Amino acid sequence: MKLTVDLSLLQQAVITMGAEKITYEPTTSLIPTKKIDRDLFDGLEVNFKDIEFDTGLASYKGRQVLLYIKDHSYNNKIYSVLDDGSKGNKYHVADCSKLDEMRRKGRFERYVVTNKLDGIFAVSGNDKHKDILIEGESKLSVCQYCLESINYNKFTSIPRGIVRRTFVQNFELADFFETYSSFFKFMPKGIADSSASYYSNDWKLISNKVRTKFNFQCQQCGLDLNNYKRLLHVHHINAVKSDNSSVNLTPLCCDCHRKQPDHKHIFINHEDTQLISTLRRAQGLNVRKSWLDVYKLADPGMHGVIDVLEKYHLSLPEISYIVKNNKKESEVTLELAWPFKKVAIAIDKPQAIAATKQGWKVYSMRHALSQIDELAQRVR
Ligand SMILES: [Zn+2]
Ligand SMILES: [Zn+2]
Ligand SMILES: [Zn+2]
Repeated sequence: MKLTVDLSLLQQAVITMGAEKITYEPTTSLIPTKKIDRDLFDGLEVNFKDIEFDTGLASYKGRQVLLYIKDHSYNNKIYSVLDDGSKGNKYHVADCSKLDEMRRKGRFERYVVTNKLDGIFAVSGNDKHKDILIEGESKLSVCQYCLESINYNKFTSIPRGIVRRTFVQNFELADFFETYSSFFKFMPKGIADSSASYYSNDWKLISNKVRTKFNFQCQQCGLDLNNYKRLLHVHHINAVKSDNSSVNLTPLCCDCHRKQPDHKHIFINHEDTQLISTLRRAQGLNVRKSWLDVYKLADPGMHGVIDVLEKYHLSLPEISYIVKNNKKESEVTLELAWPFKKVAIAIDKPQAIAATKQGWKVYSMRHALSQIDELAQRVR
C-alpha cells in the first residue's frame, strides 16, 4: 500500500511547537500482507472438513486458526450475544469433544476461521419476527473443552466452576498462539514480524553491543549463538523497554526469551525451535535432572503433555532427539523421546511418519494426551 498523505503541515506544526521527537514503534507490520493472511485476519467462512486438526490444534492452510459459528439466529439469540459475548457460540482452538460430537451427529456447519487475536468477532442472526438480519461484533469466549483437550496451562487441573470461568475470562489468544507457534509452517505475516519488534532507533546498535559484550551467549541456558546471531535477543530485565542502561540488558536466546514472564508475541517457527534444541544438544546444554528441567528445555507447545507425563513417574524423555536416517534422507527430530523404547511425541507430521517407518511409535500432542495410559505403558 502506498501512502499518499501529505504530512508536511504536521511536521511543520511539530517544529513550531518545539515538541520532542519520540520513537515510533511501527505497528504497520501487524497488518498481514499475503491474501490468505488478510482473509484469515478478516475471518473466512469455510467448510468444517477443510479445517485440519493433525496436531490437536485447529489449522487452515498451514496457519493456526480458531473457528466459530457466526450465526446466532436460534431463539433470536443474536441480541443477547451482542450485549454479552460470553452468551454466544464458543470459539474453538483445538479438536475437542464438542467438535467430535458435531462430527458424530453429522452436523457440518459453516465455520468462520480466523487468526485475529483480540477475541472480538463478527456475529449475525436473523430476527425471525421482524425478518431482518442483525449483524455486529462481540467478544466471544473460548471453548473450555478445547483447553481441556490439550491441557493448556494445566487447564485439566483447574477446578470446574468459577475458577475455570475466570481462567476463560482472562484467556488471551495471543498467549495461546505464541505457545504453539512452532507447530505451524506458516506464521501469519503480521505475527511473525511483530516478534522482531525494536524499541528505539538505535536499538540495533545497542543490541549488537550487548550481545558482543556477552560473546553471543544466552545468559540463561548458556547457548553459544556466535554462528546464529539472529537467534539471540536482548532482554530488558526490569521489563521497561525504554530503559537501555547496560545493567538492564541481557542477551537471551529466543527460546529462553519467549519463556520469560509476561512476554507475549515472541513467535518462533518450528525450524528455529528445533535449531535451538539441536544446538543445545551439540553444546551439551541439554542436561535434564528433573521434570522441571524437561519443562524448561522443551517446546512450550509440549508443556500440556509434560504436565500430565510428570504424574506417571516415567523416566525423563530426551528433548529434540535426532533420529539418523540410514537412507541419507533428512534427519528427523522428535520433540520428546524415549530412545530405548523407541517411543516419542513429535510436533511435525512428516517427521513423525519418517520415524514411524524406522520402527518408532510416535504420538502427536493430541494423541499423547488422549492415549496417555498407553504411552506410559510403552515407556515403562
Ligand atoms: Zn472446543
Ligand atoms: Zn537460552
Ligand atoms: Zn524481554
